[in-house]
Amino acid sequence: MSSHENEPTPPEGLPDEVAAELPQLTPDELRNTIIYAQELLQFHDETASPVEPGPNEEILRATKRDGYTEVVKRTTCAEDCGDCPHGPYLYHVKEETRPEGGTKVHWMFLGEVYPDEE
Ligand SMILES: [Zn+2]
Repeated sequence: MSSHENEPTPPEGLPDEVAAELPQLTPDELRNTIIYAQELLQFHDETASPVEPGPNEEILRATKRDGYTEVVKRTTCAEDCGDCPHGPYLYHVKEETRPEGGTKVHWMFLGEVYPDEE
């Protein structure tokens, strides 16, 4: 009984099946589970979101919608610019399939976002 005292509790949002299964795994199995989960996560990131911030950009919000991703981002330009950071600006980001194959990410600028929600 006392050996279960320090047993970790699963985080919120973990599916019940997984929460029931994981504590029964051996350390080796757990390690392999982590590796697999990380690979899955990478795979999702690569395919689910074409949105990547540039060096002077900060993505405040990226929401997946039907057919596009709604992105709010802020940019900075020069060090001496008194107006930095600029934005936040709202974009709709769409991945378009090219006729010659592959995809192209298309950013549609929609305008400045006024921070009335924050
Ligand atoms: Zn600036």
